[in-house]
Amino acid sequence: MDVMEKQHGGYDKVGCVSRDLYNFIAEYKKQRIEGFDAQYMLNYMAAQEERDSEFFYRYSTDSEGHLQNLFWSDAQWRLDYDAFGGVVVFDSTYRVNKYNLPFVPFIGLNHHRSTVVFGVGIVSDETVASYKWLLHSFLEAMHQNHPRSVITDGDHAMVRAILQVWPNTDHRLCSWHIEQNMVRYLRNPKLSDFRKLNYRAFEVDEFERGWLQFNKHYGITEKDTWICRMYELRKKWSTAYTKGRYFLGMRSNQRSESLNSTLHVQLDRRMRLIDLLQHHEHCISVMRRNEAAMDVVASQTVPFTELTADPLEKNVSYIYTPIMFEKVKGEIVRLSKWQVEEVNKEDSLTRFAVVHKERRQARFDVRCVYVGSVIASVHCQCRKMESEDIPCTHIFAILKCVGLDTIPSCCVAKRWTMKAKPAFDSDRSASTQQWSERMDRFHELRNDASVAFFKASKSAVQSERVMAFLNSIIDEGENDENTNIASFGPLPAYFSGARQTFTTKVS
Ligand SMILES: [Zn+2]
Repeated sequence: MDVMEKQHGGYDKVGCVSRDLYNFIAEYKKQRIEGFDAQYMLNYMAAQEERDSEFFYRYSTDSEGHLQNLFWSDAQWRLDYDAFGGVVVFDSTYRVNKYNLPFVPFIGLNHHRSTVVFGVGIVSDETVASYKWLLHSFLEAMHQNHPRSVITDGDHAMVRAILQVWPNTDHRLCSWHIEQNMVRYLRNPKLSDFRKLNYRAFEVDEFERGWLQFNKHYGITEKDTWICRMYELRKKWSTAYTKGRYFLGMRSNQRSESLNSTLHVQLDRRMRLIDLLQHHEHCISVMRRNEAAMDVVASQTVPFTELTADPLEKNVSYIYTPIMFEKVKGEIVRLSKWQVEEVNKEDSLTRFAVVHKERRQARFDVRCVYVGSVIASVHCQCRKMESEDIPCTHIFAILKCVGLDTIPSCCVAKRWTMKAKPAFDSDRSASTQQWSERMDRFHELRNDASVAFFKASKSAVQSERVMAFLNSIIDEGENDENTNIASFGPLPAYFSGARQTFTTKVS
């Protein structure tokens, strides 16, 4: 069980009940989001914006002026997206419910493989138009920075919206939802044969052959609409088509499901949307404190390695966060089962054949490009590095073969290291209190600076003056470990968490 589940174990103690959200939303649907509550919610958004200049929100109204769709993201979420936004997971779980206001958090994985939130949307219906609005709002918050990959449930409107708004984002459907639908639409032995096609056909031609056989055997026709639709969408869910693609090893959006279930504590029918938001803030704050605690451990300790451990294992213990170290270590431990059998050099490219010692048919082609004597890039046929951002056993096998005890930088994805958030560098020796106070000052500076920069930007002379002043501060800090300001990256989680003590005095 990974840290996220353990973390969620903690959340569960908060006692969130999603059913209550449905009831609550049902009531909302009847009322629509209008009148006092809608105004209250928008006041809340405006108050958040007031205290955090980088808080972002957008809303839309229908022809009668009723609040229709809403999306928001705070400074920390937007910074987290910069660091961890490669894969975005979201779903419209609540659309399957009879109520019609899906609560849609956009989430991802941080450097500890824990859940991070990038933004939250509430849409009034499940139309392509509403989802397009939501995706556009998300992009606007993230400076038009499209995610590389996205995992969603199988909602047809959402699939179409993603295709139109995020056309270059690699999209896969959540395996958990597909499994639910399989059980709903199929009975054995059809069900188990379909499952085999999904999970056991590893190659595309194997899948396509299997599909033809499946159709023939069960006499599938166009009347079997779910099966036909699944075939149309096969590149978004089957193992044969999705393996090697960048989803960080995630196949399902149960993290989102799990997150949703954490957000709904003690909600009841009488609760207003603003109460939901307040509770949501509380859950997020808990999440950020957990992340901060994990950051402290990661930055102040090195995972234990045996004295006799492989030098590569010792090396990676200093590189990755603890949870990722365990994953990478697993690849190193499996090294003993593999050996390099062939090495071919052609100019700067070296090709290695890595073969399993017992299962001789298991053979992977690993290609290394050298610049001088340094490995500049590595590619293994198994594509673990491309899909999960960690080196595979086969890459470790060739590192051993060429006599390296340290992994080349091209094999290290910053997103799994403490460098994913550069502001953490060296500052973790300070206490949480000191750091929090410092971040409060930073926040104040940043808010005032935004206003000043905007004013200065009207004139080239003023802009130069401001730039010269900023450079003088940056240069001052170069040799001072306490002024790592130049490299401010995402803020430590507990900073924002601490600042999110929401007050209802917004109306
Ligand atoms: Zn490999």
